[in-house]
Amino acid sequence: MAAYDSDSSAGEFEETNVLLGYASKDADEDTISRIGGRPEWLDPENPPTAAFARCKVCKGMMVLLLQLNGELPERFPGHDRRLYVFACRRSTCRRKEGSIRALRSVRVWKEVQNEPPKVEAKEAEKKEQRKPDAAGPGLGEALFGAKPLGGASANPFSSNANPFSSSSSNNPFGSPPANPFSPKPEKPAESSQPAEPTETETAVKSLPKTFAETLSLNVPPAQPPPPAEPWPEAASQPKPYPTLYLADAEYETLDPVSTKVPENARVEAADADEPSALDREAFESSMDATFQKFADRLSQNPDQVIRYEFAGTPLLYSKTDSVGEKLTKSTMPGCPNCGGRRTFEVQLTPHAITELEADDLSLEGMEWGTIIVGVCEKDCTPRHTEIGQVGYLEEWSGVQWEELSKMK
Ligand SMILES: [Zn+2]
Ligand SMILES: [Zn+2]
Repeated sequence: MAAYDSDSSAGEFEETNVLLGYASKDADEDTISRIGGRPEWLDPENPPTAAFARCKVCKGMMVLLLQLNGELPERFPGHDRRLYVFACRRSTCRRKEGSIRALRSVRVWKEVQNEPPKVEAKEAEKKEQRKPDAAGPGLGEALFGAKPLGGASANPFSSNANPFSSSSSNNPFGSPPANPFSPKPEKPAESSQPAEPTETETAVKSLPKTFAETLSLNVPPAQPPPPAEPWPEAASQPKPYPTLYLADAEYETLDPVSTKVPENARVEAADADEPSALDREAFESSMDATFQKFADRLSQNPDQVIRYEFAGTPLLYSKTDSVGEKLTKSTMPGCPNCGGRRTFEVQLTPHAITELEADDLSLEGMEWGTIIVGVCEKDCTPRHTEIGQVGYLEEWSGVQWEELSKMK
């Protein structure tokens, strides 16, 4: 086997568009992105309402699992972005909806039209065939202070799935005027041709590696913002996890040999029947195919604590739980604020639990397999938020709880 070399022309290792984050006690250049600790806000003078960090089950304050510098200057120029994931530490809230929540903060400095990013021709040429939807250069740098190992592509906007979504009749806000932050679709519809829904859907589905299939056009009407609630004193909050910085990041590399799914595991999970006593065995083997892929993929880079790819595809722990079904059946809820779509951005891996609980001697550990965060694909700001002001919006978090039979 060849030595590790991401630039190897032999092609023995495949580099993906997924940026892996690794935890470290030492912050390098990026002191923002971390797991554990306490949240730090874009504008410390304007924190979000504490209600965003309350468990929906017990109403108690949650603790920070992830804080991520989500700036994407190529995709959202002029936007400061941060993502937060909170979890309730009470064991009685585990496995319950609302015990893990995601929050996005955004501050727009100026309204700028998106312009085609400058991409080095050489790099674009190298990547464009197999990475049509990669994020622009500088992604890794912006996120973790790491130099990108490639992953540049000719068109970072090509992964924006559906140029027609804003005219959907399901959109309660109608067709908004041109959004200055809305990326230009790669292939706008020919105006001479009436857009047939089937064609549109086909086009969306044929876009490689987008998250289109997981998106939903069903958007609930926007709700008025809840009254702001001040954060309790640190002493009266639950004990935070230790702070571990995401100082190291690199694009995922895979050994193609070990990514093969075992022959006996080729069962289509999506078509699996509901479990019953009789077909329990078949059901479990279909679950295992997804889980095996999950475990195999993580085992190639076992220290990863987050997987990041804006508009990418999450690695599912299961296709048969409610989150797995949502993501395979295109029903991730849309953005209630702007009526647009949501898209995958980041997920936490089980190794994050290992890192966060390394010094915790209790046996009452966290029990999720992965936490998947879906965000507004337009990075919208809350209504009535002015230029230069920080806004906060709850985003979608899908928790795939650890299967009891798979517990170590
Ligand atoms: Zn709780
Ligand atoms: Zn939105």
